[in-house]
Amino acid sequence: MALPRPLSHSSISMYTECPLKYKYKYIDKIPEKPKYFFSFGQTVHSALEFFYGVKILPPPSLKELLEYYKENWVRGGYRDETQEAEYFQDGKDILTKFYNKHIQDYAIPFFVEYEFKLQVEGVPVIGYIDRIDKLPDGKLAVLDYKTGKSLSTARVETDAQLTMYQMAVEELLGAQVSRLIFYHVPSLKQQIVERHPKNLVEGLRTKIVTTAESIEKGAFAPKPAESVCRWCDYKPICPIYKNPSADAAALPEDELAAMIDQLGDMQESLFSQKEKEEKLKAEILAALVKKGFVRAFGKKYQASRAASEKWEFSDKKKVLELIKKAGLYDKVLAPSAPKIEQLMADPALPADLRARLGELGVRVETPDLKVKPL
Ligand code: SF4
Repeated sequence: MALPRPLSHSSISMYTECPLKYKYKYIDKIPEKPKYFFSFGQTVHSALEFFYGVKILPPPSLKELLEYYKENWVRGGYRDETQEAEYFQDGKDILTKFYNKHIQDYAIPFFVEYEFKLQVEGVPVIGYIDRIDKLPDGKLAVLDYKTGKSLSTARVETDAQLTMYQMAVEELLGAQVSRLIFYHVPSLKQQIVERHPKNLVEGLRTKIVTTAESIEKGAFAPKPAESVCRWCDYKPICPIYKNPSADAAALPEDELAAMIDQLGDMQESLFSQKEKEEKLKAEILAALVKKGFVRAFGKKYQASRAASEKWEFSDKKKVLELIKKAGLYDKVLAPSAPKIEQLMADPALPADLRARLGELGVRVETPDLKVKPL
């Protein structure tokens, strides 16, 4: 099977998320439902394209910008008129703030809404870049506007969309990209990172080629995941969700085999990830203890020593007798440590029973490590 259309960042992401979803959208051409967040993003993007799209100065006035915004408002996907009106007002406020901030440093960009088409090892790839600025040293800054959630800097440093833009710009415009910028328009916050390293570009090239190969081979096994399926418009026709008992029989055996392998791989990778995490945690914890540090810092995170305490009971028989005698057996049924701990934390428990239970157990401290972003 030939590729139905050139790959793009979003089609590669969709294939990676769920190959069957990709098939429904790009091969069977079943349209997705309009979503208000896409409509809103599209409207704000096109207003910013208008703002920066002039060929000669002066830039559009605020009035012209807001008129353009109003005339090009994309309506699809809003829950009702009230939600649409709220978003319309939000967009107006956002663009007004953006205008007031950037009219001061306004310069005509090198490119606005730059459309690229390139070949990666023979695989066609397309995309649009919101803005490319030329820096004083002749190098380029690539900018992507976001209107949804903001992203962490760590994510921006490795974001595949920006890697793709850098690769395309350098290949097609022949100038080096020195900055990659995610511009979160609602907060006017720009996250600026250095050009992505070679290994990310190489990794993306491999990803493009392997994705194209899988599509050409017709590999479209569903990849159910709660976070993806929840928003998937194809749920009603997806074999995973549609009439599961009938479809379980209809599911082709190669797809079933692929799903089994996929599940196994996911479980294996989660298991080894957890193992690695525990090992690393223990090593850091040991190093902190040896150095006498309570807290230490990485470039992005800090790790603090912590400890949690829990009860341990060696003579479960005696504990059970005591609880039964107090008429509280139905509260624990089996005297597991967490259940007894829960019982002991109950303010209604007589103090002498709490004390006697305490005599049968010991408090054990388990060292722990808490890691949080700086
Ligand atoms: S519902 Fe889930 S498994 Fe089915 S196509 Fe959508 S994303 Fe894939």
